[in-house]
Amino acid sequence: MENNRRKFHNDIECVPTGFANGSATDRPLTSEEKQQMIEEATVHFGNFLTALKCDWQNDPNSADTPRRVAKAYVNDLWAGRYNGFTDITSFPSDGYDGVIIERNIPLTSMCSHHHQTISGVVHIGYIAGEKGRVIGLSKLNRIVEYFGRRGAIQEQLTAAIHQAVNKVCEGNRGVVVTVVAGHNCVSCRGVKHQGAAMITTKASGVFMENDNLARKEFFDSLKINNGHVSI
Ligand SMILES: [Zn+2]
Repeated sequence: MENNRRKFHNDIECVPTGFANGSATDRPLTSEEKQQMIEEATVHFGNFLTALKCDWQNDPNSADTPRRVAKAYVNDLWAGRYNGFTDITSFPSDGYDGVIIERNIPLTSMCSHHHQTISGVVHIGYIAGEKGRVIGLSKLNRIVEYFGRRGAIQEQLTAAIHQAVNKVCEGNRGVVVTVVAGHNCVSCRGVKHQGAAMITTKASGVFMENDNLARKEFFDSLKINNGHVSI
């Protein structure tokens, strides 16, 4: 069983192991391995601050910063590189052949180029098809977390989420993923423009057809309440 899961993990990855937007070698890491990684990264981040002429060891606000940063990368910002892919059970669609949409899935990620955060939302739609499979709704959120919590290039992240849904929902008639996100590397450095959003979409199957009703339903649904769900 474990071997099957591992194989599935490998199938679901789009970029080589070790890349910032890929998974770490030999993951999932044990808690001991993570702790060891934190210790090592702490030392190197301390050296990084020293190179920037920061007297971090004597500054009460900075003394523990190398460890805080190392922990944030391993446990939160890059957690998707170190943890295993969540187990996802799919179910028969039992004849439902309409569109399934989850919108406004929160996204927190990090740009691979500048290591600044990316935040926004992901909208996912798919059609299971007559003999297709459906997955638990929150599993779509898990997929976004898994690929988002790494270094990322938004274009590739969009494709990775699309591929994962496409594989998990075997026999689907189409999958569409739209990512709307702001990049801190654009707002904080370089051009320093606040408020710009990047929108990327990856579609397959019926969502590629221009006049398709499912495609229209997906994009129309993103406009309702200006994209915000009120319950
Ligand atoms: Zn960037």
